[in-house]
Amino acid sequence: MGAGTLPIQSDPTLLAEIRRYGKFDPTGCYQCGSCTLTCDLVQGSLTFPRRTMRYSLLGLRQPLVASLEPWVCHDCGDCSAACPRQAEPSTSMMTLRRFLSAQYEWTGIGAKLLQSTAWYVGSLILVAAFTLLLIVGYHLWFVRMPVRDFTTTPFGLEHMFPIMTYYTLTVMLLPLLLLLSRAVRIWRLTMARQGFERIPLSAYASQAWVYVHQSVLHPLLRKCIEPGRWTGHWLLALGVVMMLAIKVFALRWFQTDNIYPLYHPQRWLGYLAAGFIIYGIADIFARRWRARKQIGKETHFRDLAFPALLLMTALSGLAAHIFRYAGFALTCHYLYALHVVIATDMLVVEMSFGKWSHMVYRPLALYLLAVRERANRQAPAAEVVHAL
Ligand code: SF4
Ligand code: SF4
Repeated sequence: MGAGTLPIQSDPTLLAEIRRYGKFDPTGCYQCGSCTLTCDLVQGSLTFPRRTMRYSLLGLRQPLVASLEPWVCHDCGDCSAACPRQAEPSTSMMTLRRFLSAQYEWTGIGAKLLQSTAWYVGSLILVAAFTLLLIVGYHLWFVRMPVRDFTTTPFGLEHMFPIMTYYTLTVMLLPLLLLLSRAVRIWRLTMARQGFERIPLSAYASQAWVYVHQSVLHPLLRKCIEPGRWTGHWLLALGVVMMLAIKVFALRWFQTDNIYPLYHPQRWLGYLAAGFIIYGIADIFARRWRARKQIGKETHFRDLAFPALLLMTALSGLAAHIFRYAGFALTCHYLYALHVVIATDMLVVEMSFGKWSHMVYRPLALYLLAVRERANRQAPAAEVVHAL
């Protein structure tokens, strides 16, 4: 075996395994290239969506798992409309992203949740039931509230501190730690084991701006021909980041029993973040609805679970706020408990194992692709390792 050559074996089970993650039908593809020509995001050495579909057909597990190309795709559907064989490359890329997400996940829970709707819904119910038990248990044994007071005595929101701060930090930081550990695994699978292990640290450092640029501005989505898609996406991301920052750094200031005038930042910051989130999600649902009859615009249950959970989190928080200001303290208390249950589901299940993680994987993949290209540009011709 020559230097730089990787041992690659064909795995006959690969295709069947990928199909457990959604619709995937590359068998009709005859490599005409129309999809690649149509895609606005193809550039340089990238030849998606064909290459990864070919890997899957040939059972080339290792190059497929090491491939970063599916993360460049932004699911516009143009390639599926252009495909003369109705191979639906756009849907295939979506399925491949789910398959790859499961490969990055080391606990094995992600694969179960991504393959099975029953597992996903079951875990939502389990986490919700456990959160509800914690809320009831806290009031019964920590606050020592008699059961009969549950329907008569509102306590306001501030009695939960500081426990609420610890709880919020736990359910937020746990998924972040999981995502971080997967980022290391992504690097190992796509770089360290693929002949890129000798890339100098300077290449990583010089391309760090790509990660920031892709995370903050989503420039690839700007190339998407659907008008307004970038704006909705960006506002949604901004709203989520604002809300997370408020919950991590200023929870007690935000969740208070004080009544503030409309111009107070505690109110308008919350309204702005909730408004951005609701607008972004409404935009996603409207586009899915309008595109439901287009070729290659298939909607998977899991694609809607993330925006649906996020919307319910925002609406339940907003409802608790409205009832608090309207003077319905007990209703506010119950709505707040509902908000905590939904938010915990979203953070523990969806943020840890669902589509939310794409917000981390996509910029990371684009960053690693930039590092590979930079390293290949710097390397002598004999040492160039082609990006997969
Ligand atoms: S357009 Fe269709 S048939 Fe042609 S390469 Fe792409 S997926 Fe294959
Ligand atoms: S769905 Fe759009 S972005 Fe993705 S491969 Fe097809 S044309 Fe390119």
